[in-house]
Parts: sequence; structure tokens; C-alpha cells
Amino acid sequence: MTERLYELIEQLFRKQSLTVEEYEYLIENRCAEAAKLLKKKAVMLRESIYGREVFIRGLIEISNICKNDCFYCGIRKSNSLCERYRLTPSQIIECVDEGYYLGFRTFVMQGGEDAYFSDDILCDIITEIKSKYPDCAVTLSLGERSSASYQRMYDAGADRYLLRHETAEQSHYQKLHPETMSYTERMNCLSNLKSIGYQVGCGFMVGSPFQTAASLAMDLKFIESFRPDMCGIGPFIPHKNTPFKYHAAGTLELTCYLLSVIRIIYPPILLPSTTALSTISPAGRERGIQAGANVIMPNLSPQLVRKQYELYDNKAYTSEESAQCLNELKHKMRLIGYEIVSKRGDIKKSEDKRNLPQRKEF
Ligand code: SAM
Repeated sequence: MTERLYELIEQLFRKQSLTVEEYEYLIENRCAEAAKLLKKKAVMLRESIYGREVFIRGLIEISNICKNDCFYCGIRKSNSLCERYRLTPSQIIECVDEGYYLGFRTFVMQGGEDAYFSDDILCDIITEIKSKYPDCAVTLSLGERSSASYQRMYDAGADRYLLRHETAEQSHYQKLHPETMSYTERMNCLSNLKSIGYQVGCGFMVGSPFQTAASLAMDLKFIESFRPDMCGIGPFIPHKNTPFKYHAAGTLELTCYLLSVIRIIYPPILLPSTTALSTISPAGRERGIQAGANVIMPNLSPQLVRKQYELYDNKAYTSEESAQCLNELKHKMRLIGYEIVSKRGDIKKSEDKRNLPQRKEF
């Protein structure tokens, strides 16, 4: 590793901050030795806050109907070959009932931007989940909505909202989306969610078309300043019915490298090891956790629709991706020294750094 790379890693660790140019250098000049050092620091930081616990979220894919036409996404409106579905409110509650029984204490309702899911309908579902299971957290991941809509759902009891920013470089954003979608609007939504009081998650795909080390550096700088409670990053994987069908998938190596960097930037962050990561590599799930992630989101959607929520080709949706196979997942995590726990798994945001190991120890 170059001396400069080593110094930058030490500086990141000490200050939790680098300039955009420095992040760019960290990405462009990465090597196996740097990845190892970052991983070591990331894991130690995470363990000082969360021990060896891994949080689980039950993912319920409520609809694959979407008004948007994101160029990368398999459920984009122009994909006429996509078999559309939407869950009824009672089907969603059944998924939650099953998930609660299995040990899940956070439920994530994710879906395309489907107009059927009005504020009234969503608020009724949220209220029902929270009254049946007051010890559980409800996370929403339903795309861009008005601030008033976010507020209503928050008032109904929603705790968290995941809205990947997709890229922090405006010109890159426009290359991934049609003109009708705007980077400014996406960023406004994130800031509205934060002001309302949600625990907010942003995120991006690794290896998305037209992404450069400079755009990734801007993503890291954005995470540094926005300080999200959660950050979802996973490799881009092409989908056969999208304009990006011939584009190569992102790599396990770069995704894990960035997971470690993000953990160091903001040590308490909740960082999932995503389904996309286990789709590109059989050991992806474990590698993500070993790089600094601490959340896994098994699928709780009804079996019949899992294949239809196809954001990218060959999405993993059986075996350990499935909430019903939690025991296998627990076993796999134990083999690498981690324990899946049945907790809400909120961020431990103590501004008090007493729990963190002394930085000179590393
Ligand atoms: N509609 C909501 C939104 O836009 O936030 C939530 C659903 S959207 C399908 C969830 C995430 O899937 C997106 O934020 C995107 O990063 C990811 N995604 C979509 N297509 C993908 C692909 N081809 N490869 C990897 N991730 C993808």
C-alpha cells in the first residue's frame, strides 16, 4: 500500500472525515492490504458499539407497481414483461404476524411508487401493526412522497424511512433516471424525512452505470455530512428488461471496501449486508458482515410474489434470504462469530464517545 493511502486511512479513522479528493484517492488506489486495514478498523468500531450482534429486518415487498422509470430497475414502468402484483392490507398484516412469530421486531414495507397506497391506506396498516405489536419498529421504503404524506405516516407510528439517494453527483443522477425525476427532489425528500424525526436511511448502488471514483467519493462525503441512521449499499446488478441490461454488475470487493469506509465515517450507522450482495456471491452476506455491516433483511413477502419483485436478474429469494429459513441464517452467522438477535435494533447514537475504543489502540 502506498504511504499516502496508509496516511489517509489513519486520518479517516482519527477524524471520520476526508475531502472529496481524498476519498477519490482512497477508492482509485485501493488494494487488498488497504481493504484489510479498513476492515479491521471497521469491525473493531462496530464491535465497540454493537458487540457481535446482527439485527434482522423482515422485508415485505408490498407492490411491484411503479410510476417511475429508473433506467436500472427491473420493476420500472416501461418493463411490460414484468408481472405486476400488489399485496392487500390483510396480506401485509399476515406477513407481519408470521414475522413476529419468527422473531422479527422490525418490519420494512418496501415497494414501487404505487398510487394505490394512499396515505389513508398506509396509515391504517401502520396503525394496525403498531397496535398489535407495540414493541416493533416499522420502516417504510416507498420512494418519494410529499412532506405532508411523510408526516402523516410518522404520526401514525412509522419509525424509519429508507430512501437511497442513488448517487450524490447530480449529473450522474440524471444518467440513471428519466428527466421527470430530479436529484434535488430526492435530496429534499431525505431532508424532509430527517426534519420530521424519522430514522433515515440513504444509500446507493456500487458499480452503477456511469459511476466513477469521483461520484463514489461524493457519496461518501454526503454520508459524512448527512449522517444517516442507516445506509443501504449493494452492487448494481443488470436486469434483462432495462436499458442497462448489458452493463456489468458491481463487485463484492468494492462493495465490502465501501462498507468498511462507511462504518468508519459514522461508527453507529446501521449498515445492511444486502440481498444484492448475496446474489452476486454465495458468501456475500457473510463477507458484508465481516466488512462492517450489522443488519440483514430476510424476505417475508408471500412466496408467490418474491420472484415478481425482481429489481435485477437472478435475485436471491430462497434459502437464507427467506425469513422462514432464519435458523440456517443464524447458523451461518454463528459460524463466522456473529449472533442474530430478536430486537428492534435501533441505532445506538450516543454522542458520548466513552464506549468507543481509544483511537490510538489501532
Ligand atoms: N421505490 C422505492 C425507492 O425508489 O426508494 C423503493 C424500491 S426501489 C426498487 C429500492 C432500491 O432498489 C433502489 O433504491 C435501488 O437502489 C435498488 N435497485 C433497483 N434496481 C437495482 C439493480 N438493478 N441493481 C441493484 N439494486 C437495484
